[in-house]
Amino acid sequence: MTEEIVVIPGDGIGQEVVPAAQKVLDAVGDFEYVEADAGDAVKEETGEALPQETYDLVANADATLFGAAGETAADVILPLREAVDSFVNVRPAKAYPGVDALRPETDLVFLRENTEGVYSGHEDRLSEDLSTLTRVVTTSASERLAEFACDYVDDSSFQIAHKANVMRETDGRFRDAVVSVAEENGVETEEVLMDAFATKVCLNPTQFDVVVCPNLAGDVLSDLAAGLVGGLGLLPSANLGPERGLFEPVHGTAPDIAGEGVANPSATILSAAMLLDHLGYDEEAEAVRSAVEGVLEEGPRTADLGGDASTEDVTEAVVSRLN
Ligand code: ATP
Ligand code: MG
Repeated sequence: MTEEIVVIPGDGIGQEVVPAAQKVLDAVGDFEYVEADAGDAVKEETGEALPQETYDLVANADATLFGAAGETAADVILPLREAVDSFVNVRPAKAYPGVDALRPETDLVFLRENTEGVYSGHEDRLSEDLSTLTRVVTTSASERLAEFACDYVDDSSFQIAHKANVMRETDGRFRDAVVSVAEENGVETEEVLMDAFATKVCLNPTQFDVVVCPNLAGDVLSDLAAGLVGGLGLLPSANLGPERGLFEPVHGTAPDIAGEGVANPSATILSAAMLLDHLGYDEEAEAVRSAVEGVLEEGPRTADLGGDASTEDVTEAVVSRLN
Protein backbone atom coordinates (compact mmCIF):
# COMPACT_ATOMS: atom_id res chain seq x y z
CA MET A 1 0.00 0.00 0.00
CA THR A 2 1.25 3.46 -0.87
CA GLU A 3 1.27 5.83 2.07
CA GLU A 4 0.87 9.56 1.49
CA ILE A 5 3.11 11.98 3.38
CA VAL A 6 2.96 15.76 3.23
CA VAL A 7 6.44 17.30 3.03
CA ILE A 8 7.20 20.95 3.75
CA PRO A 9 10.91 21.66 3.25
CA GLY A 10 10.43 25.37 4.10
CA ASP A 11 13.47 27.66 4.28
CA GLY A 12 17.24 27.39 4.64
CA ILE A 13 18.62 23.91 5.22
CA GLY A 14 15.05 22.60 5.31
CA GLN A 15 15.42 22.48 1.51
CA GLU A 16 18.38 20.12 1.92
CA VAL A 17 17.53 17.93 4.92
CA VAL A 18 13.90 17.14 4.01
CA PRO A 19 14.80 15.65 0.60
CA ALA A 20 17.57 13.72 2.39
CA ALA A 21 15.02 12.22 4.78
CA GLN A 22 12.73 11.38 1.85
CA LYS A 23 15.55 9.33 0.29
CA VAL A 24 15.83 7.40 3.52
CA LEU A 25 12.06 6.85 3.68
CA ASP A 26 12.17 5.57 0.12
CA ALA A 27 14.73 2.99 1.18
CA VAL A 28 12.30 1.41 3.66
CA GLY A 29 8.84 1.83 2.16
CA ASP A 30 6.55 2.89 -0.62
CA PHE A 31 5.62 6.50 -0.01
CA GLU A 32 4.04 9.19 -2.07
CA TYR A 33 4.85 12.79 -1.22
CA VAL A 34 2.66 15.83 -1.47
CA GLU A 35 4.97 18.84 -1.36
CA ALA A 36 3.67 22.04 0.22
CA ASP A 37 5.10 25.52 0.84
CA ALA A 38 5.51 27.44 4.06
CA GLY A 39 7.94 30.00 5.46
CA ASP A 40 9.84 33.10 4.42
CA ALA A 41 10.24 32.28 0.75
CA VAL A 42 6.55 31.72 0.08
CA LYS A 43 5.71 34.82 2.13
CA GLU A 44 7.95 36.89 -0.10
CA GLU A 45 6.17 35.53 -3.16
CA THR A 46 2.58 35.53 -1.99
CA GLY A 47 2.43 37.62 1.17
CA GLU A 48 1.49 34.58 3.25
CA ALA A 49 3.89 32.45 5.29
CA LEU A 50 1.37 29.67 5.63
CA PRO A 51 -0.86 29.31 2.56
CA GLN A 52 -4.35 27.97 3.31
CA GLU A 53 -3.65 25.12 0.92
CA THR A 54 -0.71 23.98 3.06
CA TYR A 55 -2.73 24.24 6.27
CA ASP A 56 -5.53 22.14 4.75
CA LEU A 57 -3.12 19.50 3.48
CA VAL A 58 -1.53 19.14 6.93
CA ALA A 59 -4.92 19.14 8.69
CA ASN A 60 -6.00 16.18 6.56
CA ALA A 61 -2.78 14.17 6.38
CA ASP A 62 -1.82 11.30 8.68
CA ALA A 63 1.73 12.55 8.71
CA THR A 64 3.69 15.64 7.72
CA LEU A 65 7.46 16.06 7.57
CA PHE A 66 8.48 19.67 8.11
CA GLY A 67 11.95 21.19 7.66
CA ALA A 68 12.27 24.72 9.01
CA ALA A 69 10.97 28.24 8.58
CA GLY A 70 13.07 31.37 9.13
CA GLU A 71 11.69 34.71 10.37
CA THR A 72 8.16 33.40 9.93
CA ALA A 73 8.69 30.30 12.11
CA ALA A 74 6.03 31.21 14.69
CA ASP A 75 3.49 32.06 11.96
CA VAL A 76 4.04 28.65 10.44
CA ILE A 77 4.65 26.15 13.19
CA LEU A 78 2.05 27.28 15.73
CA PRO A 79 -0.89 27.03 13.29
CA LEU A 80 0.48 23.75 11.92
CA ARG A 81 0.60 22.24 15.40
CA GLU A 82 -2.99 23.33 15.78
CA ALA A 83 -3.84 21.82 12.39
CA VAL A 84 -2.90 18.37 13.69
CA ASP A 85 -4.50 19.10 17.10
CA SER A 86 -1.13 18.38 18.62
CA PHE A 87 -1.38 18.04 22.37
CA VAL A 88 2.08 16.60 22.91
CA ASN A 89 5.55 17.41 21.65
CA VAL A 90 7.77 14.35 21.91
CA ARG A 91 11.44 15.27 22.11
CA PRO A 92 14.03 12.57 22.61
CA ALA A 93 17.48 13.73 23.74
CA LYS A 94 19.92 10.91 23.23
CA ALA A 95 23.70 10.94 22.97
CA TYR A 96 25.30 8.67 20.37
CA PRO A 97 28.59 6.80 20.37
CA GLY A 98 31.01 8.61 18.10
CA VAL A 99 29.52 12.04 18.77
CA ASP A 100 31.19 14.41 21.19
CA ALA A 101 28.72 15.10 24.00
CA LEU A 102 28.94 16.86 27.35
CA ARG A 103 27.05 13.92 28.88
CA PRO A 104 27.47 10.88 26.63
CA GLU A 105 25.27 8.79 28.93
CA THR A 106 22.18 10.96 28.23
CA ASP A 107 19.14 9.12 26.94
CA LEU A 108 15.81 10.65 27.88
CA VAL A 109 12.57 11.77 26.29
CA PHE A 110 10.54 14.87 27.03
CA LEU A 111 6.77 14.76 26.67
CA ARG A 112 5.90 18.42 26.53
CA GLU A 113 2.39 19.81 26.79
CA ASN A 114 1.91 21.51 23.44
CA THR A 115 -1.18 23.74 23.62
CA GLU A 116 -1.34 25.86 26.74
CA GLY A 117 0.67 27.11 29.72
CA VAL A 118 2.32 30.46 29.11
CA TYR A 119 2.30 29.83 25.34
CA SER A 120 -1.47 30.13 25.15
CA GLY A 121 -1.22 33.56 23.52
CA HIS A 122 -3.04 35.53 26.23
CA GLU A 123 -0.79 38.54 26.66
CA ASP A 124 -1.98 42.09 27.35
CA ARG A 125 -0.49 45.55 27.58
CA LEU A 126 -2.48 47.17 30.36
CA SER A 127 -0.60 50.45 30.65
CA GLU A 128 2.65 52.21 29.79
CA ASP A 129 4.20 50.35 32.67
CA LEU A 130 2.38 47.05 32.83
CA SER A 131 2.04 43.96 30.68
CA THR A 132 0.48 40.70 31.78
CA LEU A 133 0.33 37.12 30.62
CA THR A 134 -2.44 34.69 31.44
CA ARG A 135 -1.20 31.17 32.04
CA VAL A 136 -3.78 28.64 30.98
CA VAL A 137 -3.85 25.13 32.43
CA THR A 138 -6.79 22.81 31.96
CA THR A 139 -7.41 19.46 33.59
CA SER A 140 -8.47 18.05 30.23
CA ALA A 141 -5.22 18.94 28.41
CA SER A 142 -3.15 17.72 31.36
CA GLU A 143 -5.04 14.43 31.44
CA ARG A 144 -4.71 13.95 27.70
CA LEU A 145 -0.94 14.36 28.01
CA ALA A 146 -0.84 12.00 31.01
CA GLU A 147 -2.79 9.32 29.14
CA PHE A 148 -0.32 9.58 26.29
CA ALA A 149 2.57 9.33 28.78
CA CYS A 150 1.12 6.19 30.38
CA ASP A 151 0.89 4.56 26.98
CA TYR A 152 4.33 5.76 26.01
CA VAL A 153 6.05 4.25 29.04
CA ASP A 154 4.19 1.01 28.57
CA ASP A 155 2.80 1.12 32.09
CA SER A 156 6.08 1.48 33.95
CA SER A 157 6.91 4.97 35.26
CA PHE A 158 7.65 8.56 34.31
CA GLN A 159 8.82 11.77 35.90
CA ILE A 160 6.92 15.05 36.11
CA ALA A 161 8.84 18.34 36.09
CA HIS A 162 6.78 21.23 37.46
CA LYS A 163 6.84 24.15 39.86
CA ALA A 164 3.65 23.46 41.79
CA ASN A 165 5.22 24.68 45.03
CA VAL A 166 5.07 28.25 43.65
CA MET A 167 2.43 28.13 40.89
CA ARG A 168 0.06 26.21 43.13
CA GLU A 169 -3.07 26.75 41.13
CA THR A 170 -1.80 26.19 37.58
CA ASP A 171 1.08 23.76 38.01
CA GLY A 172 -0.84 22.31 40.95
CA ARG A 173 -3.71 21.48 38.61
CA PHE A 174 -1.28 20.10 36.03
CA ARG A 175 0.48 17.92 38.60
CA ASP A 176 -2.73 16.66 40.21
CA ALA A 177 -4.27 15.74 36.86
CA VAL A 178 -1.15 13.94 35.62
CA VAL A 179 -0.64 12.05 38.89
CA SER A 180 -4.26 10.93 39.09
CA VAL A 181 -4.29 9.59 35.51
CA ALA A 182 -1.03 7.76 36.22
CA GLU A 183 -2.50 6.22 39.37
CA GLU A 184 -5.58 5.07 37.49
CA ASN A 185 -3.28 3.35 35.00
CA GLY A 186 -1.01 1.80 37.60
CA VAL A 187 1.92 3.93 36.42
CA GLU A 188 4.40 5.24 38.95
CA THR A 189 5.39 8.88 38.88
CA GLU A 190 8.21 10.83 40.42
CA GLU A 191 7.95 14.60 40.82
CA VAL A 192 10.86 16.94 40.35
CA LEU A 193 10.80 20.73 40.60
CA MET A 194 11.73 22.12 37.20
CA ASP A 195 14.57 24.31 38.48
CA ALA A 196 16.09 21.39 40.36
CA PHE A 197 15.64 19.29 37.23
CA ALA A 198 17.93 21.67 35.32
CA THR A 199 20.76 21.02 37.77
CA LYS A 200 20.10 17.32 38.21
CA VAL A 201 20.00 16.55 34.51
CA CYS A 202 23.37 18.24 34.01
CA LEU A 203 24.96 16.36 36.90
CA ASN A 204 23.46 12.97 36.19
CA PRO A 205 21.11 12.60 33.21
CA THR A 206 20.72 8.84 33.72
CA GLN A 207 18.33 9.42 36.62
CA PHE A 208 15.75 10.59 34.05
CA ASP A 209 13.98 8.55 31.46
CA VAL A 210 10.62 9.98 30.37
CA VAL A 211 9.87 13.49 31.62
CA VAL A 212 6.39 15.00 31.40
CA CYS A 213 6.40 18.83 31.46
CA PRO A 214 4.21 21.89 31.04
CA ASN A 215 4.77 23.78 27.79
CA LEU A 216 7.45 26.37 28.69
CA ALA A 217 9.35 24.04 31.02
CA GLY A 218 9.41 21.39 28.30
CA ASP A 219 10.69 23.87 25.76
CA VAL A 220 13.53 25.15 27.92
CA LEU A 221 14.52 21.87 29.57
CA SER A 222 14.59 19.92 26.33
CA ASP A 223 16.90 22.55 24.81
CA LEU A 224 19.10 22.21 27.88
CA ALA A 225 19.24 18.46 27.33
CA ALA A 226 20.05 19.10 23.67
CA GLY A 227 23.17 20.83 24.88
CA LEU A 228 24.15 17.71 26.82
CA VAL A 229 24.02 15.42 23.80
CA GLY A 230 26.17 17.42 21.42
CA GLY A 231 24.34 19.43 18.94
CA LEU A 232 21.26 20.55 17.17
CA GLY A 233 21.96 18.50 14.07
CA LEU A 234 20.87 15.33 15.88
CA LEU A 235 17.60 16.15 17.59
CA PRO A 236 14.26 15.06 16.17
CA SER A 237 10.78 15.90 17.40
CA ALA A 238 7.18 14.87 16.90
CA ASN A 239 4.04 16.96 17.40
CA LEU A 240 1.30 14.43 17.91
CA GLY A 241 -2.45 14.77 17.89
CA PRO A 242 -5.10 12.12 18.43
CA GLU A 243 -4.73 11.02 14.80
CA ARG A 244 -2.23 13.16 12.97
CA GLY A 245 1.41 13.96 13.43
CA LEU A 246 3.85 16.67 12.38
CA PHE A 247 7.51 15.70 12.50
CA GLU A 248 10.38 18.19 12.48
CA PRO A 249 14.02 18.55 13.47
CA VAL A 250 14.57 20.69 16.56
CA HIS A 251 17.00 22.92 14.67
CA GLY A 252 16.02 25.87 12.51
CA THR A 253 17.04 27.09 9.08
CA ALA A 254 20.79 27.39 9.86
CA PRO A 255 21.24 30.39 7.53
CA ASP A 256 25.01 30.31 8.07
CA ILE A 257 25.35 27.03 6.17
CA ALA A 258 22.19 26.98 4.03
CA GLY A 259 22.68 26.21 0.36
CA GLU A 260 26.11 24.67 0.82
CA GLY A 261 25.02 21.05 0.98
CA VAL A 262 26.79 20.48 4.28
CA ALA A 263 23.91 20.39 6.78
CA ASN A 264 23.64 17.34 9.00
CA PRO A 265 20.50 15.47 7.88
CA SER A 266 20.40 13.23 11.00
CA ALA A 267 17.82 15.23 12.97
CA THR A 268 15.39 15.17 10.05
CA ILE A 269 16.07 11.52 9.25
CA LEU A 270 15.41 10.68 12.92
CA SER A 271 12.21 12.78 12.74
CA ALA A 272 11.23 10.66 9.73
CA ALA A 273 11.82 7.57 11.91
CA MET A 274 9.33 9.00 14.42
CA LEU A 275 6.94 9.50 11.50
CA LEU A 276 7.36 5.82 10.62
CA ASP A 277 6.54 4.91 14.24
CA HIS A 278 3.41 7.01 13.99
CA LEU A 279 2.30 5.27 10.79
CA GLY A 280 2.87 1.88 12.39
CA TYR A 281 6.07 0.97 10.55
CA ASP A 282 7.86 -0.03 13.74
CA GLU A 283 10.51 -2.26 12.19
CA GLU A 284 11.35 0.26 9.51
CA ALA A 285 11.61 3.02 12.12
CA GLU A 286 14.01 0.93 14.15
CA ALA A 287 16.06 0.10 11.06
CA VAL A 288 16.38 3.81 10.20
CA ARG A 289 17.48 4.66 13.74
CA SER A 290 20.06 1.94 13.76
CA ALA A 291 21.39 2.99 10.34
CA VAL A 292 21.77 6.58 11.57
CA GLU A 293 23.49 5.35 14.73
CA GLY A 294 25.89 3.28 12.64
CA VAL A 295 26.78 6.28 10.48
CA LEU A 296 27.20 8.55 13.51
CA GLU A 297 29.57 6.04 15.02
CA GLU A 298 31.62 5.15 11.93
CA GLY A 299 31.12 8.17 9.67
CA PRO A 300 30.91 9.83 7.28
CA ARG A 301 30.26 12.94 9.36
CA THR A 302 29.23 16.46 8.51
CA ALA A 303 31.20 19.51 9.69
CA ASP A 304 29.08 20.11 12.81
CA LEU A 305 30.33 16.72 14.04
CA GLY A 306 33.92 17.38 13.07
CA GLY A 307 33.88 15.74 9.64
CA ASP A 308 33.96 17.05 6.10
CA ALA A 309 31.21 14.99 4.50
CA SER A 310 28.29 16.52 2.63
CA THR A 311 24.60 16.10 3.39
CA GLU A 312 24.44 13.74 0.44
CA ASP A 313 27.40 11.61 1.64
CA VAL A 314 25.74 11.07 5.00
CA THR A 315 22.35 10.38 3.42
CA GLU A 316 23.86 7.84 1.01
CA ALA A 317 25.67 6.15 3.89
CA VAL A 318 22.40 5.79 5.83
CA VAL A 319 20.60 4.50 2.73
CA SER A 320 23.32 1.97 1.94
CA ARG A 321 23.06 0.54 5.46
CA LEU A 322 19.35 0.06 4.85
CA ASN A 323 19.78 -1.73 1.50
P1 ATP B 1 16.56 29.91 12.99
O1 ATP B 1 16.18 31.31 13.28
O2 ATP B 1 15.93 29.36 11.74
O3 ATP B 1 16.43 28.98 14.18
P2 ATP B 1 19.35 30.00 13.68
O4 ATP B 1 20.34 30.98 13.17
O5 ATP B 1 18.89 30.05 15.08
O6 ATP B 1 18.11 29.98 12.66
P3 ATP B 1 19.60 27.20 13.87
O7 ATP B 1 19.08 26.42 12.74
O8 ATP B 1 18.79 27.26 15.11
O9 ATP B 1 19.97 28.61 13.33
O10 ATP B 1 21.07 26.68 14.16
C1 ATP B 1 21.92 27.22 15.14
C2 ATP B 1 23.34 26.80 14.78
O11 ATP B 1 23.45 25.37 14.70
C3 ATP B 1 23.83 27.34 13.45
O12 ATP B 1 25.18 27.70 13.54
C4 ATP B 1 23.68 26.19 12.51
O13 ATP B 1 24.59 26.20 11.46
C5 ATP B 1 23.88 24.98 13.40
N1 ATP B 1 23.01 23.89 12.91
C6 ATP B 1 21.67 23.78 13.10
N2 ATP B 1 21.19 22.71 12.47
C7 ATP B 1 22.24 22.12 11.85
C8 ATP B 1 22.37 20.97 11.02
N3 ATP B 1 21.33 20.19 10.70
N4 ATP B 1 23.60 20.66 10.56
C9 ATP B 1 24.66 21.42 10.88
N5 ATP B 1 24.61 22.51 11.64
C10 ATP B 1 23.41 22.87 12.13
MG1 MG C 1 17.48 28.78 16.18
